[in-house]
Amino acid sequence: MTAQRIDGNALARVTREQVRAEVATLKARGLTPGLAVLLVGDDPASQVYVRHKVADSAEVGIHSLLERLPAHTTQAELLARIEQLNADRSIHGILVQLPLPKHIDAQRVIETIAPHKDVDGFHVANAGALAVGRPGFKPCTPYGCMKMLEHIGYSLRGKHAVVVGRSNIVGKPMAWMLLQASATVTVCHSATAQLATVVRQADVIVAATGIRNLITADMVAPGAVVIDVGMNRDDAGKLCGDVDFATVQYKAGWITPVPGGVGPMTRAMLLVNTLEAAQAAAT
Ligand code: NDP
Repeated sequence: MTAQRIDGNALARVTREQVRAEVATLKARGLTPGLAVLLVGDDPASQVYVRHKVADSAEVGIHSLLERLPAHTTQAELLARIEQLNADRSIHGILVQLPLPKHIDAQRVIETIAPHKDVDGFHVANAGALAVGRPGFKPCTPYGCMKMLEHIGYSLRGKHAVVVGRSNIVGKPMAWMLLQASATVTVCHSATAQLATVVRQADVIVAATGIRNLITADMVAPGAVVIDVGMNRDDAGKLCGDVDFATVQYKAGWITPVPGGVGPMTRAMLLVNTLEAAQAAAT
């Protein structure tokens, strides 16, 4: 049996089309959604990410403001700029590209973004809302994973979902969303004993560790749904995930490829969150 692939590129395209239509409706009412993207320093990967975010925004009609700040920008300067954007009525979403230079406290920066403009969903107010099942912005990567599960018509109710990784931006919010969908959720991390035994019990596996080939075919129950969040490089420099795709594809029921899986959906969900921020401002 070969697993069915969940095509993140195709689903992201459909999602962008939906956002574009809704943006057009808002524009007809005189409101253009605005997204501010702040990049501090010149990390090459971050440069690529922000370029994508700006291009995606343009494609769906969202106005984006990309601000490149020098690496020596002080924390006080960055916080002051965020405060200005918090007060700017033409800006509905604010995103500060991570990682930040070491002299800046990233958590402090995130907490300065007004929660109703925190389209990354990292502010403690949005994290708390997710934890208690209240409305708020959901972090784009796990939100995109949920959309992929929804897309294949997979009912999570009563299923065992195993999340490998417990970061604040992927693993933890993923676990909350799966729990909200009535899955039974296990969260694994670097201190988990018997990882293979735990993962083997999963109906759904979400791998988010940054460790290439951590999830091998012997760890996957036949027919399981495998969502690969990892973004790693193989020895040839090619993008790959946390899952040993070459073998797991013959064991799983559904699988997301890397590239072309979670990555494009993460990008699409930022547009969804920005649209929702603008819609909320319009009411
Ligand atoms: P972090 O480094 O913040 O977290 C990694 C997690 O993996 C930690 O919780 C860590 O455990 C856990 N871990 C590490 N080693 C093991 C192990 N041997 N067994 C089990 N768990 C382990 O990473 P992120 O959550 O930010 O990202 C994870 C991956 O997802 C990365 O490859 C990243 O590039 C990718 N990513 C992809 C995105 C996309 O759009 N596709 C978006 C965001 C991230 P502990 O807490 O104990 O240290």
